[in-house]
Amino acid sequence: MDFTLSSEQQMIVETVRAFAVKELYPFEDEVERDDSVRPELRRQIIERSRELGLFAANMPEEHGGAGLDNLSLALLSRELGRASMALQWIVARPSNILQACVGDQVETYLRPTCRGERLECLALTEPGAGSDLRAMTTRAVRDGGDFVINGQKHFISNGTEADYVILFTVTGEEDTPRGKSKKMTAFLVDMGTPGFEHRRGPSCVSHKGYHQAELFFSDCRISENQILGEEHKGFDVANVWLGATRLEVAAMCIGRAQRALEMSVEWAAQRKQFGQTIGRFQGVSFKLADMATQIAAAELLTLHAAWKLDQGTMTDMDAAMAKLHASEMLAMVTDEAIQIFGGMGLMDSMPLERFWRDARVERIYDGTSEIQRHIISRSLLRAQGG
Ligand SMILES: Cc1cc2nc3c(=O)[nH]c(=O)nc-3n(C[C@H](O)[C@H](O)[C@H](O)COP(=O)(O)OP(=O)(O)OC[C@H]3O[C@@H](n4cnc5c(N)ncnc54)[C@H](O)[C@@H]3O)c2cc1C
Repeated sequence: MDFTLSSEQQMIVETVRAFAVKELYPFEDEVERDDSVRPELRRQIIERSRELGLFAANMPEEHGGAGLDNLSLALLSRELGRASMALQWIVARPSNILQACVGDQVETYLRPTCRGERLECLALTEPGAGSDLRAMTTRAVRDGGDFVINGQKHFISNGTEADYVILFTVTGEEDTPRGKSKKMTAFLVDMGTPGFEHRRGPSCVSHKGYHQAELFFSDCRISENQILGEEHKGFDVANVWLGATRLEVAAMCIGRAQRALEMSVEWAAQRKQFGQTIGRFQGVSFKLADMATQIAAAELLTLHAAWKLDQGTMTDMDAAMAKLHASEMLAMVTDEAIQIFGGMGLMDSMPLERFWRDARVERIYDGTSEIQRHIISRSLLRAQGG
């Protein structure tokens, strides 16, 4: 097995690392303080990342993206993940799901999103349907060539900033061997459509400046032309997207953990107590060893899964293992980093307390750790008929 990066991949790593350091790090404190990103700063990040060919890196070149393979994309996300979420997500990797756009949808949604002119958000979660998406109750009822939508979504990232939502709704029911099951359909719904309201949700402890919204649909009428993918095939569309997104979360966790480790090593090598640098105490140096080992393990799982995705062989279990381990590793690494820094680690003059707060959400969104364990154990047991 050859683990060497190609010269193009090496260049991606170096370019994105330099971009994060120069274009994102300097604004992290401002975003944390204001809990928002200035519109001019947002435009500047879009422009600079487009100049470097980093914008919409996951999307095909024919639609204006960079057309990167999944392994290169994981490397890009790892490097961007070093920076604050509110800033790094602006270097958009639009939902893969948009590749299901057809006809007019391509010019109305897909291509403007790849150019940074329009922004999407993606709405699955509801107050009564989190891990259990089949408990969804937001319903779209066909009325001739239209659909009428009623229901509510919450925790929708960028829901207040977005121009449109990729909305998942219930559109029917079917009999399965395990009883009745809901049929889902995905739609593209513009903000401002009558009957569609949104508002900012509660503040989150993680990722300041990256907000979540609540969406409300009350007799919201849209055309059948706004179906994304096929009617009743919403779960199929979502499944195409979920695996790749989990790898992206895993890759971003690795980048942030590497930054926390680098800071910790530097601190342990220069901070003195009892007449020597604290890195000379095994109580500190062994933490560094564990942090580095766990990061390396998460990286191997993630890059391997991304490579398998490129070969068309990635399983749900591969993506689940990468997301599970990388997000739990980040929690451990950021916590230990704070321990190594002592009181200084908790002060907001350093980014560590932010990394620690930001790490918390990674074990919850895009499938909680328990759901990832469920996917992994189900795959193991099913193979034995269990
Ligand atoms: C900051 C943030 C951004 C988000 N962005 C988006 C977004 O853009 N779009 C979107 O649609 N959603 C988004 N979400 C929602 C996110 O995906 C859900 O929060 C997540 O899937 C968990 O759902 P829940 O919060 O309702 O928790 P629940 O599903 O209520 O889970 C509560 C607890 O029960 C456990 N649990 C549930 N079922 C099982 C089971 N079968 N076995 C074992 N344990 C179980 C969970 O692991 C968890 O510990 C976001 C959430 C956050 C916090």
